[in-house]
Formats: sequence, C-alpha cells, structure tokens
Amino acid sequence: MAQPIKKTIAVLGSTGSIGKQALEIVQANPDRLQVEVLTAQNNADLLIEQAIAFEPNAVVVGEEKYAYVKDALQKHDIKVYAGADALCQVVQMETVDMVLAAIVGFAGLRSTLAAIEAGKPVALANKETLVVAGALVTSLAKEKGVNIYPVDSEHSAIFQCLAGEFHNKIEKIYLTASGGPFRGKDKTFLSTVTKADALKHPNWKMGEKITIDSATMMNKGLEIIEAAWLFSLKPEQIDVIIHPQSIIHSLVQFEDGSLKAQMGLPDMKLPIQYALFYPQRMPSSFKRFDFASYPSLTFEKPDMSTFPSISLAYEALRKGGNMPCVLNAANEVAVSAFLNGGIGFNDIPTIVEKCMQQVHYIDKPTLQEYIDTDIDTRKEASSLAKKKIRA
Ligand code: NAD
Ligand code: MG
Repeated sequence: MAQPIKKTIAVLGSTGSIGKQALEIVQANPDRLQVEVLTAQNNADLLIEQAIAFEPNAVVVGEEKYAYVKDALQKHDIKVYAGADALCQVVQMETVDMVLAAIVGFAGLRSTLAAIEAGKPVALANKETLVVAGALVTSLAKEKGVNIYPVDSEHSAIFQCLAGEFHNKIEKIYLTASGGPFRGKDKTFLSTVTKADALKHPNWKMGEKITIDSATMMNKGLEIIEAAWLFSLKPEQIDVIIHPQSIIHSLVQFEDGSLKAQMGLPDMKLPIQYALFYPQRMPSSFKRFDFASYPSLTFEKPDMSTFPSISLAYEALRKGGNMPCVLNAANEVAVSAFLNGGIGFNDIPTIVEKCMQQVHYIDKPTLQEYIDTDIDTRKEASSLAKKKIRA
C-alpha cells in the first residue's frame, strides 16, 4: 500500500495556545504531519522542549533569548535563528508545505505575508493579520494563487458550511459569540472588574490577549472584519448572535433562506485539524457532543451599548483604509495596559474610539503605511493609557 503523503508544516507561535494544540494534532498524526519550523517570542524553555520532541529543521525565537536557545540546542541538528526577519525567511524555505500562522497580534502580519509571497498555503489563526491589512493579504493571496484556511472556530464553521455550495451565494452569515464572562452585566459593573475576572472565559481556554478581547467583545469585532475579507462580504451581510453554550460555531444563510450551521463541543483542535488537512476530515478522538448534556441551545442579541467594541469594528470596516489597523493597534495597547493593571476595563474601548478619531486616515495604504499607522496608533494609545492611569 502507498504511504500517505506527509505534509511539512511551519508552526509560528508554537508555544501559544493554538501552537500547542497544533502540536498535539501532529503527535496524533505522525505519518501525516511533520514539523519543519517552530517559533516563539519569549517562552524559550518550552520552545527548546518542543524542538527536542519534534526535531524541526529550524526554530526562531525572540532576539533576547537567542543565545540561550542556541546553547540548549547545540547538540541537535536544528538551526536556531532570531527576530522578525528570520520569521519571514523560514516560512519561505522550500521544505515547508504549509504555514500555521498562530502568532498573536500585528506581529504576525509580516511572516504571514512572506508565506503567501512564497506560495505557501496558510492555516490562519492570527486574525489580526486580516484585520490590519485584509486588502493587501487577500490580493496577494489571489495573485499568488494561495489558499488561506481559517483556523478561527467561527470562520472554520462558515468555511465548512460552504463546502459543496459552489456558486451558491451567501445572503448573510451569523457569527456566534459566547458573550464572554460579563454577559448580561452593565457598564457600572464593568468599571469594577479585575484582570482575573476578565481572564475567566466560560467556554474557551486561550491566550491572554484573545481572552480579554472576548470579555470586551472586541474579539467578535475583529472576527467581523476577518470574515468580511475571508468570504468577500459587505458589513451588512455579517451579523453577531450571542450563543452562550458555544456549540453552534457560526451559520451561513443562503439566498433561498436556508441556514447551515456547524456544531460541536468548543475545542480548537477541531478547526486547527480541519485547516491542516483540508479537504480531508481526519478521524479524531476529540470528545463527542452529547445531546443530553445540552437540553437547550439559546440565543440573544448582543448588547452593543455596554460592549461598544462591536460597533467600533463595524465602523472601522465601513471606513476601510487604515481604520481597522488603527482599531487593532489601539486595542492591542489598551489590552496590554489593562493586563498590566494600569487602566480600567471600560477604558479599553474608549482608547480605541479616541484613536480612531485622531489617527491620520489613509484610503489605500501600502504595507509601509500600515506599519507606520501601527506605530503612530501605538504612540497615541499609550499616551491615552498613561493619562487614564494618572486620572
Ligand atoms: P498566545 O498568546 O497563547 O500565543 C501567542 C504565540 O505568539 C506565542 O507562541 C508567542 O511566543 C508568539 N508571539 C507573541 N508575540 C510575538 C512576537 N512579537 N513575535 C513573534 N512571536 C510572538 O495566543 P493564542 O491564544 O495562541 O492566539 C494566537 C492567535 O490565534 C491570535 O491571533 C488569536 O486571536 C488567534 N486565535 C486563538 C484562539 C485560541 O483558542 N487561543 C482561537 C481563535 C483564534
Ligand atoms: Mg473565534
């Protein structure tokens, strides 16, 4: 019998929540997947451990940890590189078949673009890449004939619902949201919440940044923009519905009024695996859904006045240009200021809104202009955050 084809993958952000789960999938499918590249920013010890276990061709780490990782992997046949330029180079290696983009934030943009530039299919977890520069990323992917496979559970759900639909048009999509830990609360309550409260997500265990984004609902805002680019949708074709059980991962409504949903227990391994093996569904031992444990699936409208981030994202999407890049950069700074104990929870959307009013608008930005917008917005957001701390 012929051996199954082994796919070699570069796992960018391998020490993160998505990266670690992707490596579990590799471990469960050793004759189908091989790790060619692993990368991390700070968690050098875990990167070293992963490198010894998966024996990649190369690893990339943040510059400060280079000497430490190089020393630890001295006796292994693994190349060690450091920094953002190295990330862009390793994804382009001939031996890489597919890139899993699982770095968090704007920091994932350049390496994702580099992968597309080199014609590598991308399994995309790093939603910020599409939020910041969706026009640039999707036009480059089209030019290079590169497929982007969504890893985000909602977008994977939409992608799965579209299988077999060929030229049938999407009327609209519904992105489901759990509502996060503060669903049903008001602004007064939110003004008192702590970092520990906000990090307690009811259904998903994820990295800190996306967990705070889920609590503010900015995660859904970013996903609206991500969906607009992935599926070529107008803002009015994208709706958000709160579904606290996180069983329906999202829905597509077609022109005949039919709705298709993709369902399952909340487990990111499923969409990661779907993206890595598309179009094949690989057998898995992931926990199965049990109807008796979920006697009712419920739905609510999102509370946009308590959680203004969704409206801010729609506004950024409608304005286009560098506005989603401003939204993203301001949010990254504000979330990190909240995590460092500096600002209050309600200050996060306030800082985003102020930056969207203040940063210079560019209609059709180049990559350099996106990078400049990111830098300028970060400065503005940091100074707004400092004022909040003093206040
Ligand atoms: P995480 O914080 O757990 O991991 C982030 C990874 O990126 C780490 O390996 C870290 O070393 C690396 N990294 C951080 N800053 C970097 C930098 N400046 N340069 C290079 N590498 C850097 O994050 P996560 O929860 O795994 O999320 C990763 C991405 O996937 C995010 O864009 C997030 O929105 C998206 N996503 C995550 C989930 C989830 O369940 N965790 C679900 C959907 C989408
Ligand atoms: Mg999601």
